[in-house]
Amino acid sequence: MDFELSEEQKMVRDMARKFAEQEMAPILQEYEHERKINFEIIKKMGDLGLLGAHLPKEYGGVGLDYVSAAIIWEQLSQASWTQTLNSLGHGVLAGTILMKAGSEEQKQKYLPPLCRGEMIIATGAVEPNAGSDASAVESKATLDGREWVINGAKNFISAGGIADTVLVLVQTDKSLGTKGMALIAVDRDTPGFSSSRADMIGDWAGDISNLAFVDCRVPEENLVGKVGRGLQNALAGIDMARLFISAGAIGMAQACLDACIKYTKERYQFGRPIASFQLAQKAIAKIQAEVFAIRWQVYYAAELKSKGLPHGKELSSAKWLSTELALRASAEAIRLHGAYGCTEDYPVAHHYRDAAMSTILGGTTEMHILTIGRELLGTSAIV
Ligand SMILES: Cc1cc2nc3c(=O)[nH]c(=O)nc-3n(C[C@H](O)[C@H](O)[C@H](O)COP(=O)(O)OP(=O)(O)OC[C@H]3O[C@@H](n4cnc5c(N)ncnc54)[C@H](O)[C@@H]3O)c2cc1C
Repeated sequence: MDFELSEEQKMVRDMARKFAEQEMAPILQEYEHERKINFEIIKKMGDLGLLGAHLPKEYGGVGLDYVSAAIIWEQLSQASWTQTLNSLGHGVLAGTILMKAGSEEQKQKYLPPLCRGEMIIATGAVEPNAGSDASAVESKATLDGREWVINGAKNFISAGGIADTVLVLVQTDKSLGTKGMALIAVDRDTPGFSSSRADMIGDWAGDISNLAFVDCRVPEENLVGKVGRGLQNALAGIDMARLFISAGAIGMAQACLDACIKYTKERYQFGRPIASFQLAQKAIAKIQAEVFAIRWQVYYAAELKSKGLPHGKELSSAKWLSTELALRASAEAIRLHGAYGCTEDYPVAHHYRDAAMSTILGGTTEMHILTIGRELLGTSAIV
């Protein structure tokens, strides 16, 4: 057992931290206030290899192990978890799906530009009537000659409004259930495809959009993987995404901890720094203890996944605990900052907004608890 990061992992950590501090944090507020996307930063991330960190070198990635890639998310998310999600999330979700299920031609077409920051590929699984239950997808694809005709809607799709292409989870034959499901790539300029930005509690510098498909016709070869494997292939991407969502949540909690340590030493009440009050010390000590413990849980799940070992309950534990910690830590950070914590003058309010969302995507807290329960008890609570 080795609790020391490797020299390469330390280098990755320091590089990502520097990028977060120098490139992301100073301009985050401007982009959040104006609700605009920082495309320049996505390009810079591409130049540094951050976008395709976990993807193989032959497709433009860096081929890092998953602990190292998780460390990148952790560091960048100390500046902004949702900006990290907006920039790196599509490579994790769509990139993983394409690696697993895409044809050689599709990999060559999509992955290198994605890694360079020149192409954004969203993944649309969730719908108005299919959230946690992804098997309930109603969006329909029918083969008409050599073209798929797609009709349906997708909700809350990360980068859905700025993506060049969306991998859409569709049902080709309802009578087959999940065996009728497929993933089809739809380009933004396809007639009948439209998107509208969802107004979320957080992710102000990012994009989460609802998508509509009305008689969208795309070539038959836009099918990614096989009909019948759509759900499994989407879930492979989601499995990867939940690892990096968890690592980012640790970054948010760490950032809140650092902000609390700084602020409570500077703020005086009753003639003393509030850091000297026992209640403040307990609050800060609790965040520290939890960040320390849950960070290792995330790295452990990443290590298992890197080695190709079973990691279901370990990753579900990481996703559940890390995102709920980020939400708790950011709420505590606001409390410790008093009214100032409720303003944009201190770097805690935006983490609170984003942390609330982190508990939902990549499987809600409840879904992960039920996954752990199913694995331990051998019986599913969801029929
Ligand atoms: C920031 C963000 C980014 C996202 N990005 C994407 C994306 O890129 N692509 C995509 O496809 N989707 C995306 N989503 C959607 C996300 O995957 C869904 O929101 C999530 O799967 C939950 O679905 P839902 O919101 O419909 O909630 P529901 O499934 O309706 O759940 C509502 C509540 O009921 C609970 N619940 C549901 N079923 C059970 C049960 N059996 N037992 C106990 N409790 C239950 C849930 O835990 C939750 O608390 C994103 C969401 C967010 C917030």
